[in-house]
Amino acid sequence: MPYDKEEIEKFHVSGRILRAVREEMKGFVRENMLVLDICEMAENLIRRKGGKPAFPCNVSINEVAAHYTSPPNDTLRVPEGSTVKVDIGVQIDGYVTDTAFTVSFNSEGKSMAAAAELALKTAIENIHGDITLGTIGNLIEVTVKNRGFKPISNLTGHSVGRYLIHAGTSIPNVSGFNPTKIKTGEIYALEPFVTLPDAVGRVDDQEQSTIYRLVKAKSTKSSEAKKLLKHIETNFRTLPFAERWLMGVLPADKYKAAFRELLSSKAIMSYPVFVEASKKPVAQAEHTVLITDEGCEVLT
Ligand code: MN
Ligand code: MN
Repeated sequence: MPYDKEEIEKFHVSGRILRAVREEMKGFVRENMLVLDICEMAENLIRRKGGKPAFPCNVSINEVAAHYTSPPNDTLRVPEGSTVKVDIGVQIDGYVTDTAFTVSFNSEGKSMAAAAELALKTAIENIHGDITLGTIGNLIEVTVKNRGFKPISNLTGHSVGRYLIHAGTSIPNVSGFNPTKIKTGEIYALEPFVTLPDAVGRVDDQEQSTIYRLVKAKSTKSSEAKKLLKHIETNFRTLPFAERWLMGVLPADKYKAAFRELLSSKAIMSYPVFVEASKKPVAQAEHTVLITDEGCEVLT
């Protein structure tokens, strides 16, 4: 077993908090709302319930598939008729759970969201220790296609770990030869992404980044960069963070240069925003599960 009883209990606590936050957030998202308000509401709910955000709340709209969180003072609003993915995570002593849902304000988007939920449900009902990654990918793809949609081929589920969102194993959302087996006792996030049948069905990196992560604590040129890096190391370790979470660490006039220094010295890295290659809308569903010999336990 990769985790002992105490560690599994921390995953359970993490998952229970995350589930409660997700259910509250489902009723919160509205057209014309500030994306910043969605991000802060989700992150504050996580803290209020005794957890810490494992990563910034992602609010990815329409063809934006993943990795958008509000930058400081973001004025972006939820467009009318849009499809909105809300992806959130909790960590308890570093033990990460990860979940997502889609709210759509158009009928096609609602169908895509239902297809993503059904693909997730199918994966959950079939996963167990010893099943191959190829089999899971095939199940997801077939389920999505039977509903008349297409899975995103280059976004995957993933194993999670302590202070790790991606702990090494990727779980495909499309069929293909992959004999690697799911392991009993491991914890995985399953997350099908669904788009329209005439879409390219993969995502490209956008130039914009809104989410960052520590790579390596190294010496800095400026004392301001040193202070910022120390804050990142202490508070987020190797987990992703948003610039919003750094406000107030340095005087406003010193912040930008210090942040740029950390990026250019590669002390921190940025995650590009992912956009569907043909700019078609995307829906997503996600749960974190603990694998058993017979099946899985949904933690979120
Ligand atoms: Mn997620
Ligand atoms: Mn995930």
